[in-house]
Amino acid sequence: MKTVKYQLFLIGLLLSGLAYAFPQHQPVPGGIAIVPLITKTQPLIYYNKRKVLTVFKDNKWLAVVGIPLSEKPGVHQISDVSMRQSISFNVIDKTYPAQHITLKKTAKNKRMINPNKMDMERITRERKTLSTALSTWSEMPANVDFILPALGRLSSPFGLKRFFNEQARKPHSGLDIAAPTGSDVIAPANGIIIDVGDYFFNGNTVLVDHGQGLISGYFHLSKTLVSIGDTVKQGQKIAKIGATGRVTGPHLHWNVYLNNTKVDPALFISDHIHKLSTKKK
Ligand SMILES: [Zn+2]
Repeated sequence: MKTVKYQLFLIGLLLSGLAYAFPQHQPVPGGIAIVPLITKTQPLIYYNKRKVLTVFKDNKWLAVVGIPLSEKPGVHQISDVSMRQSISFNVIDKTYPAQHITLKKTAKNKRMINPNKMDMERITRERKTLSTALSTWSEMPANVDFILPALGRLSSPFGLKRFFNEQARKPHSGLDIAAPTGSDVIAPANGIIIDVGDYFFNGNTVLVDHGQGLISGYFHLSKTLVSIGDTVKQGQKIAKIGATGRVTGPHLHWNVYLNNTKVDPALFISDHIHKLSTKKK
């Protein structure tokens, strides 16, 4: 009897391993903490006053917490509202690499480096639209099982500290995949399109809601193939890679958000990232 149970357990383990890829537990600034919960019913979890994604996996509930890049290493807490308790987890330090870029001011990119007053008004408006879209919370079970949204060269990792003409800029908020204009962008997981727009810095943009605050964003696109409200399946073409907005060449800038926090997209594609080339041509 015991052996049968053990064999069933092994088969279960194998199937759950094959069934779907799960985001990687990397509790660093810009990373993800997977925190086991003791509750038996659907939990209600908050981190920094924001609702947190939860999944039922291998017979237990897990909280999948997005940690802001600006978060300090040390002990942090999520609150389990249903169980009326706090659960601690550790955020460990991570040093991201730095990059220094010299940008020549040309007539074309001058406004992208120093936007004028009209541009600033547009940027402020767009920030509001984006932040509304990013605070979307849908109750559907989250689709955390990701595949690559595009093929190409991993040209810039998440978290890269950037200096333009020795001026410190915001660290890189996503993962860049460089590929020729017109290359396919596919949905990495099932979801619903919550935004399609043309933004000053981001260029043509698509946002996909994968459930419970897990949102993926696609920027600098040459073409978008979906509309707000569309349901998309994993692998479905949603856009074409381009060079719109503030860019130096055609590439996909890919963001992943958890609890309204940008996290490292690489943590969602650990099983697939090797398919991206890293060599500069
Ligand atoms: Zn980028």
